[in-house]
Amino acid sequence: MENGNIDEMLELIWTEEESGRRRVNDILNADKSFDRDSLEGLSGKGYVKLEGEDIILTPAGRAKASNIIRNHRLAERLLKDVLEVKTVELETQACEFEHILSSEVADAICTLLGHPKECPHGRKISQGACCKKAVKEVSSVIVPLADLRSSQSGKVAYIATTHHARLDRLTSLGIFPGVTIRVHQKVPTLVVQLDHMQIALDKDIAEDIFVRRG
Ligand SMILES: [Zn+2]
Ligand SMILES: [Zn+2]
Ligand SMILES: [Zn+2]
Repeated sequence: MENGNIDEMLELIWTEEESGRRRVNDILNADKSFDRDSLEGLSGKGYVKLEGEDIILTPAGRAKASNIIRNHRLAERLLKDVLEVKTVELETQACEFEHILSSEVADAICTLLGHPKECPHGRKISQGACCKKAVKEVSSVIVPLADLRSSQSGKVAYIATTHHARLDRLTSLGIFPGVTIRVHQKVPTLVVQLDHMQIALDKDIAEDIFVRRG
């Protein structure tokens, strides 16, 4: 069994499990290029256990899968937020990246992006050593709006909320990806400048708006 194939299978098993599916048939239906033999092979390598009709990641399999998924989702954020690759192209591009990133490079990308918690599809990115230490040596390019100082500006990269009312409100204020925001004042309340308009924002909302430093 090739390493790339092992990675793809572990990735699929992980994402299926995230969606609450952990049966052998779920995996085989989700990707027709895998068969029962390939899952047996994965089991032989100690990455999964087949228990009746269920497939379960072993601790070794879970550690390996978690790493692949983290790389995949960080690559998605990098491609989308920094390189501005279109969403339709993300999946295949990110899948190529995930196998070649060392953990040092993944942590450098994570730091550059401000330790994002979710991929562009809203799926969880697990923490790396960098997030736990909150390394500041490489300064992040993408930061929460709340981290900008007075008179600094940034271009909105993404908004990290799945809260529809909040997204709608921000959109109606003219705050969406691509827009440049300048911090007018931080105390007593945060006031930002958008074109010729000044808007006061709650601190927790400003934590959800990620900008690329201008
Ligand atoms: Zn992938
Ligand atoms: Zn994603
Ligand atoms: Zn990190």
